[in-house]
Amino acid sequence: MNKINTHKSDLIDELKEQSIYKIKLKALLEKIYIDSPPLAYIHSFGCQQNISDAEKIKGFLAEIGYGFTDIQDDSDLIIYNTCAVRENAEARVYGNIGELKHLKAAKENLVIGICGCMAQQQSVADKIKSTYPQVDMVFGTFVFHKLPEMLYNVLAERIRVFDLKEDNHEILEGLSTVREDKIKAYVPVMYGCNNFCTYCIVPYVRGRERSRKPDEIIKEVTQLVKDGYKEITLLGQNVNSYSYGFSGLLRSVNEISGNFRIRFVSSHPKDATKELIDTIIECEKICKHLHLPFQAGSNRILNQMNRKYTIEDYYDIIDYARGKKSDFSFSSDIIVGFPGETFEEFLQTVEVIKKVKFDNLYTFVYSKRSGTKAENLPDNIPQAEKGKWLRELILIQREVVTENFKRFLNKTVTVLVEGEGKTDSTYLTGKNDENIIVEFKGHHSLIGEFVNVKITKIKNWALFGEIINN
Ligand code: SF4
Repeated sequence: MNKINTHKSDLIDELKEQSIYKIKLKALLEKIYIDSPPLAYIHSFGCQQNISDAEKIKGFLAEIGYGFTDIQDDSDLIIYNTCAVRENAEARVYGNIGELKHLKAAKENLVIGICGCMAQQQSVADKIKSTYPQVDMVFGTFVFHKLPEMLYNVLAERIRVFDLKEDNHEILEGLSTVREDKIKAYVPVMYGCNNFCTYCIVPYVRGRERSRKPDEIIKEVTQLVKDGYKEITLLGQNVNSYSYGFSGLLRSVNEISGNFRIRFVSSHPKDATKELIDTIIECEKICKHLHLPFQAGSNRILNQMNRKYTIEDYYDIIDYARGKKSDFSFSSDIIVGFPGETFEEFLQTVEVIKKVKFDNLYTFVYSKRSGTKAENLPDNIPQAEKGKWLRELILIQREVVTENFKRFLNKTVTVLVEGEGKTDSTYLTGKNDENIIVEFKGHHSLIGEFVNVKITKIKNWALFGEIINN
């Protein structure tokens, strides 16, 4: 069992200690890197929460004097910010760590760190300790603020650091952040999860739910909008269970003046209320799109997953939204082949995707996670069979989307331009309100702007059109 920090004074002491380490580490780095500052390479796996965490890690490193590089071989510090949600993501991380052996041998002062959800698991830390001596630091999701101390211990004392301490009680505000994107910003509003879905490792590696105070969030978003950000995504493992009231928070963010739009992920159907739908519809800056993972169409499987809603509850919220706005857009996550799922139950999932007509689906074959309840459920469906179901479901979803997207033909949509087109460099790409990719010809000077695009063609992954009236 890891030590749990429960006292605010512990945290204040820790932060004071870290400022001393910052000074010591800065001096040390200046001695080691005389000609130019050291470079850090940070690679995040997994979800937006990890991308947001990486921006805070970069904030700490920038304060200490690190620069950043996208080229791993050029770096003096490599950090993999890992994901534990699926087995194959973990396997990929181990593969990447293995390949770092030669780089470590060739570079005397190279520091290698593994952090994030995967690193929070004791079994992973133990495996890295015994099998991958090239790794210098393993730290979990609660201790980013101790990076100065960890790095100092590695570089000055030449010791390996393993810190999986948990802290469920404090959210550190006002941390420096180095944001990658200049157009879209992620703003965490809550951390952790209380739901314990039986397949999910998140509550074990991210702790219980903790919400940020509304005024801290408003302050951050206001500044981001002043800095020119055009899309703000409020983040949380279960964002709509935000403890100070999520609809109220959305309304307050909507009142911030400026030309920007609001998204949020990820919502749990049990907390998706009619009030939330009304808020989305009534607030002009909130995209009329809800990502609402339903996971499975069978009530028996939903119960086995401990999802705390039935598929009828799910339909209720969809019907309410579509009753108010017929083209209200939904996307979802689906797990295929949960232990004990029958083919008939899988077909119930297919029925949901045909009925709801999601604009986007994130589909996964069930991945067994050690330490979760579902790990011990009998699972007699062969992996190949699960793969077949998944492929079938993807084909059906493609047909659904092709049909769905027809509603945009000859219509004008507002697009936030994000960059160069995916398939043609003379094109630009961006997303509409419904979070669907839109591609069109246009000048690069429009990147970061909202433009109106008339849709003239659809494919099953994107809409294509022409800019009008900009
Ligand atoms: S709501 Fe369920 S699936 Fe989502 S993070 Fe929490 S436990 Fe995992």
